[in-house]
Amino acid sequence: MRGSMMDQPLLIASLIGYAARYHADTEIVSRTVEGPIHRYTYGGSYRRIAQLAHALQKLGVTPSDRIATLAWNGYRHFELYYAISGLGAVCHTINPRLFPPQIKYIVEHAEDKYIFVDLTFVPLLEAFAAELKSVKGYVVMTDAAHMPATKLPNVLCYENLIAGLPETFAWPVFDEWTASSLCYTSGTTGNPKGVLYTHRSTVLHALAINAADGALGLTARDAVLPVVPLFHVNAWGIPYAAAAAGAKLVFPGPLLDGPNLYDLLEGEKVTITAGVPTVWLGLFSHLEQAGKRLSALKRLISGGSALPLPLIDGLEEKHGVAVCHAWGMTELSPVGTTGNLKAGQENLPAAERHRLKSTQGRTVFGVEMKIVDDDGKTLPQDGKAYGELLVRGPWVTNGYYRDEAANKPAFDRDGWFRTGDVVSIDPDGWVKIVDRSKDLIKSGGEWISSIDLENAAIGHPAVAEAAAIGVPHPKWQERPLLVVVIKKDGKLDRETMLAFLQTKVAKWWLPDDVIFVKELPHTATGKILKTKLREQFKDYALKPA
Ligand code: ADP
Repeated sequence: MRGSMMDQPLLIASLIGYAARYHADTEIVSRTVEGPIHRYTYGGSYRRIAQLAHALQKLGVTPSDRIATLAWNGYRHFELYYAISGLGAVCHTINPRLFPPQIKYIVEHAEDKYIFVDLTFVPLLEAFAAELKSVKGYVVMTDAAHMPATKLPNVLCYENLIAGLPETFAWPVFDEWTASSLCYTSGTTGNPKGVLYTHRSTVLHALAINAADGALGLTARDAVLPVVPLFHVNAWGIPYAAAAAGAKLVFPGPLLDGPNLYDLLEGEKVTITAGVPTVWLGLFSHLEQAGKRLSALKRLISGGSALPLPLIDGLEEKHGVAVCHAWGMTELSPVGTTGNLKAGQENLPAAERHRLKSTQGRTVFGVEMKIVDDDGKTLPQDGKAYGELLVRGPWVTNGYYRDEAANKPAFDRDGWFRTGDVVSIDPDGWVKIVDRSKDLIKSGGEWISSIDLENAAIGHPAVAEAAAIGVPHPKWQERPLLVVVIKKDGKLDRETMLAFLQTKVAKWWLPDDVIFVKELPHTATGKILKTKLREQFKDYALKPA
């Protein structure tokens, strides 16, 4: 028997429609590329989103067209999110930190019709715009006064484009399975792969992360600052979740260093912020060096790579900020776990609480998880067994965009998505990443976790960044090599580093050697590019043990 409830599609336009109606005076604050702080409200934003939708229609944008953005976190980018998807077209956010040939590949693969671009990234596009066949024109996201002299063909100015157009729009109602946005994973090998989200997956994910124990749990009393970029997995869903809750939004623009973030967090009384560990390291060292306190910030969400324990300690104990470690992937919209404690765990001693929080968090409702061995056999979730993590759920992709070759290895026989992460899961659902499967170091048939070694090394006060990789060894097959960047003014040598690690990891895990470098190679999402490091050190001769 079918139930008798309304068939109301879950559409992205309904999120901003709700915010504009019931939270019309709630602010959206942006630090702009042009310089000044820009302020308006959900009400004002909704009117400009309507104008933008009219402008897109006048440009000939129709449902399913891919419209790209190359921009920082700011109000115009937010408007594009809602206007493009609201029309039934696809908002394709491009990561400007990718190498230019990758950006060109992505635009051509997606067949983008228009590209909206921040002033900062105009020169980046000029280098290859003439070769982009599908692109009909470029819209610079600024006003007439700031329009640059540019070689871009068919160039338009955002503010001129929307000026004078009607401030209301009759948002079409369509199937909730319609594609809404597209984001390519940068990956460390091969071409970037596209994940095509639906209206349904996006709205469900927004509701899930707004649950009290979801990653964000936003309320109408919160002010949220996404440091995570709008070009990276839809800023982890924050633009949608904030509208659903009626929370104030604060966009940091291009300035993501400790002092600038601190000013914005304090000035706008931000209660929740979200981003990657590198950003929090920058903020924390600013707080320490300048002797500053955070007066409004209550919670900080960290994801994207492992969050070092000393940072959790410092932020929670010294600054009174509740740290929530989340794990996710572009393919998961992105949230799969969040590190909120269970009943009883709040009263654990600080060291024990922080240890739990330094794992990747608990499985959230909506994402099913299993771990498997090399033969695909399911392993117990007992906190001890570890294997590759596979997931499924309503906001997990069922295949990369137009990429059959990438799809074959990405799913198991039953359609579960292979994450490529090696993890253990305990009976309460706490997930602990052992490593990316490609980054594990195999020594004499046993696995060494590069992540654990790196986290241990980061615990030393003189270490700015560290990477552990396996290098070939005649006896043990592979042994760990630790590559370290020392902090400005920090002092450290090989012996001191090894003596420090000796107190943190098993003896046979100790790196065979430590190398000091000025900087490490990074991916476009700020992760250490281990493939490049392995290539660089593949002939490194370890001293015989
Ligand atoms: P994102 O950077 O938003 O997580 P990506 O799709 O670029 O999304 O990268 C996903 C990969 O990042 C995961 O498979 C995992 O290896 C790593 N990752 C994400 N979150 C964490 C985390 N909290 N701790 C450790 N690794 C993480």
